[in-house]
Amino acid sequence: MAGGELVPGFHPETELERRVFEDPELRAGLAWGKPRKGHPEGTVGAHVGDLLRSIDEWGETGRRRSDLRFIALVHDSMKYRVRAGSFAADFRGLALAINVLRYQLFKTGPLTHGAHEVVAFVKTRPELGRPNAQLGFTLLGAEPELDNIVVDPFDAVTIHQYYARPSSQGYCQIQSPDPDAAMLIDANFLDTEEDRRNSIDTIRFADRLMGQAALAGLAPRYAGPPVDFESEDSILGGLNEFGGTAFHVCGTCRMGSDPGSVVDPQLRVRGVEGLRVMDTSVMPLTPTGNTNGPAMAMAWRAAELILA
Ligand SMILES: Cc1cc2nc3c(=O)[nH]c(=O)nc-3n(C[C@H](O)[C@H](O)[C@H](O)COP(=O)(O)OP(=O)(O)OC[C@H]3O[C@@H](n4cnc5c(N)ncnc54)[C@H](O)[C@@H]3O)c2cc1C
Repeated sequence: MAGGELVPGFHPETELERRVFEDPELRAGLAWGKPRKGHPEGTVGAHVGDLLRSIDEWGETGRRRSDLRFIALVHDSMKYRVRAGSFAADFRGLALAINVLRYQLFKTGPLTHGAHEVVAFVKTRPELGRPNAQLGFTLLGAEPELDNIVVDPFDAVTIHQYYARPSSQGYCQIQSPDPDAAMLIDANFLDTEEDRRNSIDTIRFADRLMGQAALAGLAPRYAGPPVDFESEDSILGGLNEFGGTAFHVCGTCRMGSDPGSVVDPQLRVRGVEGLRVMDTSVMPLTPTGNTNGPAMAMAWRAAELILA
């Protein structure tokens, strides 16, 4: 990194990232490609300005200055009433109070369970070479209420499902020179026909799964949200109305070997010396599963690359 005052103990690359986080004016420089006020040429501010000018020229990765694309997921929850076997009773009334106490005292009981008892990676079509959808099974039903979630009083299973590796791309765009102003974020869910097709297939797959003979003893009955699985329009309408994101956002600083990628395979920002990016923004696509583990594995590798 050229110029700039360094804090002892910080590697120059991590130092720039730290200062971008901590310094609103510097972030404003990052936002608008201007050197920071009070930073002569050759300092961090100018350096960041160069970065943005470079991004601006790439076009493909930044449609306009500071307009960065990202990839997200849409998911939906499907609830089925079942005859027995859920955790519904454990999360209501006196039982809930006892279970909270049990957790506080002994760190045991239903409160130690993860959100999903079972997670499945499935192929919605048998001819696919690898899974294209993820299903998570929660052994209760619940309804959101303003700032709360109310557990259903009946036994239920909820399937949280989504189509993996979406092709729809959203974008974030800086709206104002004020670095504290909120960005415009548009996930652009279900923009491509491929994503709509695969999302419909995933939902139908989950519903077929609940109809399997092995689960007949639980007598599963679909309990919402209100969707007609026979109708593609109804499924897509349900996704738009009731769906949400699984927060696996990535791709604003795509890694690649091509000149249009923001970072190279060693995480170095193209066209800028001494600057690397390491978070899920460098993933060129969402992975098939969740992103937290891959982010940590990538961070480990990034540390090795920076220290090498
Ligand atoms: C509600 C939710 C639920 C999720 N559930 C799961 C899950 O169950 N399993 C899973 O695998 N993934 C899950 N994810 C996704 C996962 O958390 C992310 O993919 C992962 O954390 C991304 O890591 P990252 O390092 O790219 O970004 P982050 O973890 O977001 O790290 C960015 C860091 O930068 C810091 N930062 C940002 N701006 C500044 C600033 N100006 N100054 C200083 N510091 C700053 C933040 O404080 C943060 O520590 C979930 C995400 C959300 C939001």
